[in-house]
Amino acid sequence: MSVSTKLPEWPPALTPEQHAELIQLSSTYALSHGFTLLPPNSSNPPTSAIPAPLSLFPTPFPRKLYELAISLQPIYNALYARIALDWEFLDRVMGGSVSKVDEFQGELWRGWKRVREELVQHKQLGIFRSDYLLHEEKDDGKEQLAIKQVEFNTIAASFGALSQRAGEMHRYLQRATGLYYNVSPHLLKLRDLPQNEPLKRLASGLAEGWEAYSESEAVVLFVVQEGERNVFDQRWLEYELLERYGINVVRRTFSELASSAVINPTTKKLYLPSAEPGRPQLEVAVIYYRAAYTPTDYPSSVEWDTRILLEKSNAIKCPSMALQLAGAKKIQQVLAEPGVLEHFLLGDSRPDVGFGAGAGSLTQSDVEALRSTWIGLWPMDDSELGKEAFKLANEESARFVLKPQREGGGNNIYRQDIPVHLKQLASEPVAQGEPEKKEAYILMELIEPPQGLSNWLVRGGESKARKADVVSELGVYGVMLFDASGEKQSVNRGAGTLLRTKGRESDEGGVAIGESRWFCKGCK
Ligand code: ADP
Ligand code: MG
Ligand code: MG
Repeated sequence: MSVSTKLPEWPPALTPEQHAELIQLSSTYALSHGFTLLPPNSSNPPTSAIPAPLSLFPTPFPRKLYELAISLQPIYNALYARIALDWEFLDRVMGGSVSKVDEFQGELWRGWKRVREELVQHKQLGIFRSDYLLHEEKDDGKEQLAIKQVEFNTIAASFGALSQRAGEMHRYLQRATGLYYNVSPHLLKLRDLPQNEPLKRLASGLAEGWEAYSESEAVVLFVVQEGERNVFDQRWLEYELLERYGINVVRRTFSELASSAVINPTTKKLYLPSAEPGRPQLEVAVIYYRAAYTPTDYPSSVEWDTRILLEKSNAIKCPSMALQLAGAKKIQQVLAEPGVLEHFLLGDSRPDVGFGAGAGSLTQSDVEALRSTWIGLWPMDDSELGKEAFKLANEESARFVLKPQREGGGNNIYRQDIPVHLKQLASEPVAQGEPEKKEAYILMELIEPPQGLSNWLVRGGESKARKADVVSELGVYGVMLFDASGEKQSVNRGAGTLLRTKGRESDEGGVAIGESRWFCKGCK
């Protein structure tokens, strides 16, 4: 689907007084409502917070494309659940050269392979976020807008709670200032802001995982990073679980778990010590990772041992190691190869993950709808496609981004930096019979968001706004509870959205789409 490229003039004009008042109102609203981050180098326990980076106005996004992205989410959920259940596929794609040249993915795949036969918990919980950018393309000779997928996150997909708070803040600003001082009433109607409650819906997904475990005294374990600044986004999920569902959450880092988590050798139940001496241990129903997705989360083999211990337990993992592997950028690239999507959505051997098994209700038009959200993806191996990619990456680098198998932002190589980077990789020594270093990457065509939209951006902790040309990345959350048997309790639904408005940062090669890092340096 594509729509006309006509976007409104944005943002509406403000007097200096109105502008100053909006900054005041938004910052104080953010601080009062926990739309916040910890400041850098905060003390522990913290004694202050700063407003999360925000835009003074909501950024317009074509409604039809927004609705299309939401409508695709259950199909994406089913697709990624099926990938996580397809061991042969994961072995072929992640156990191939990627596991040899990317140490982190290699550890993850080998660790999973070692333990997968002995796993006792077959239910898996996915909290996903599928990310898109608007893309300008020619359709029948006319410029049109479409959505193109940036990536699909299967681990630690964050900002659900802050996104809900951001929507509430913009709604408040409209009301508090009389439709933004009535500057542009035809543009800024309350009904134009979508109802969006990812905090509520993600918490309900975690609660459904907890219920599937069926132990009323058990807790949900959040595995978190030391020094995390995006804690309020996580805490809101905890409060929602406790207040709405009566479920207790325990937060632990990998290093804390290394010395405290134990598994009962017979039942494989996972236990943590209780905070009160003499009280029974805490049994863990669900392990929710907001860490474990980046090499720095595993400074030594101790953290990998802890990951494996948790994986072998009877707790429901969000995500399992298999589901984390499924979210690799290499998988996204292989999905774009001919016939692979058909295999997962239409093949006979599909497990039932909410759409019926075998020849269930998904059709060729679902396949096409998903594929219409993709942009060119190539492997960087020695296949024919890989050779084509190598040529394109060197000769037409301005059209591409080179991506390693990393998460968390700030790892990609853009445009004219690509040939230099490839040269550097080629100069690194490779042992006889081993794949080349470049095979740890994929090549992706650049998505080209429309020009001409601006917004006022306020960085966390600053009292000034800067007007910037912006690009908005739409994330659609999904919740998926599944296992290979396709039992009736399988949950598969969308869970709200995130619209991350970022400044276009320019570099020598033109406009580099802002790495998501500026939104919150170091936050995923
Ligand atoms: P990560 O898992 O680290 O978030 P992403 O694939 O999301 O990696 O890339 C980080 C950022 O790079 C995105 O948020 C987006 O701004 C930009 N980006 C990634 N792929 C593309 C692309 N194909 N075209 C344009 N920008 C992209
Ligand atoms: Mg990611
Ligand atoms: Mg991303």
